[in-house]
Amino acid sequence: MITIDGSFGEGGGQILRTSLALSLVTGQAFRILNIRAGRSKPGLLRQHLTAVEAAAKVGDAAVDGATLGSKELVFKPGKVTPGDYRFAVGTAGSATLVLQTVLPALIIGKEASRLTLEGGTHNPHAPPFDFLERAFLPLLCKTGPQINVKIERHGFFPAGGGRFTVEIKPIEKLTPLRIDARGENKGRSARAFIANLSSGVANRELKVVSEKLGWPRECLHVEEVESNGPGNAIILELALEHVTEVFTGFGERGVLAETVAENVVQEVREYLASGVPVGEHLSDQLLIPMALAGSGSFVTAKLSRHTRTNMVVISKFMPIAFRTEQTEKGSIVSLG
Ligand code: AMP
Repeated sequence: MITIDGSFGEGGGQILRTSLALSLVTGQAFRILNIRAGRSKPGLLRQHLTAVEAAAKVGDAAVDGATLGSKELVFKPGKVTPGDYRFAVGTAGSATLVLQTVLPALIIGKEASRLTLEGGTHNPHAPPFDFLERAFLPLLCKTGPQINVKIERHGFFPAGGGRFTVEIKPIEKLTPLRIDARGENKGRSARAFIANLSSGVANRELKVVSEKLGWPRECLHVEEVESNGPGNAIILELALEHVTEVFTGFGERGVLAETVAENVVQEVREYLASGVPVGEHLSDQLLIPMALAGSGSFVTAKLSRHTRTNMVVISKFMPIAFRTEQTEKGSIVSLG
């Protein structure tokens, strides 16, 4: 059985999710120790437990250690069955990360799936729904599967209660992706989402974007959304020929709207200055599709800890070795 040390590298939930995802894909059982040892609240939180339960359901797995707070887990997968599933985190924990866990197994094969995910849709330290919809999934679809997502309700911390659906038409073998350059600029937008808050918050965020990035009025949008509690996120999108990048600032109690916007503006500036196509978050998330396709490459700025950790975890389940090379264009990650 494969043994994974959850304290390795980044020491977060991604080590668990990648292990679950690739256990389903490859049919190999694993034991993970020191789950999320690098986090302030280690062990399985509600969101991670939901990911384990979702993977167990999709893959008819036998699981030992699936309890809240557990730091050790044994996962023995059975047969993956595509179909209709509903997974609810039950708190504001990220539902998009639950999707990240089961998606790799459901995009390969013959039969379609339809998922409903409930929980947080816009959580700090997780891909917001818009990142999935505009940045990650369009690239994944370029590898062959058809994936459509639709948000029905936004879920912010702490009230949660978000919901989105995912329709998946899989493919037998993924086509490799090569993302070596950005290509032409196709558009940009800043959307300030607010739920049960004054629109002043959104307007203050957009004012910062307009002043600091010089984006014109027609790129700036306030979107009032339905949610169980108050919530705010500002999403900046750069649509380029070969990739769309999405940068998010999450509103927080006690943090000025201007500060939330300034932080995300800084991320956009760094991305623009780097000249590379693939930003920090896409880079760790593109590794599983690359591994499933058996080859591919992309250029990113600097290898994040999530990216470096994910490469090692993936190579425990698959007989592959990612290559990395520092060049004046940036860091090239490749396989095959
Ligand atoms: P972990 O911290 O190990 O639970 O992993 C978090 C995952 O969420 C990684 O795949 C990150 O790249 C991803 N992530 C965190 N923040 C963002 C963000 N703002 N946009 C997109 N993905 C994110």
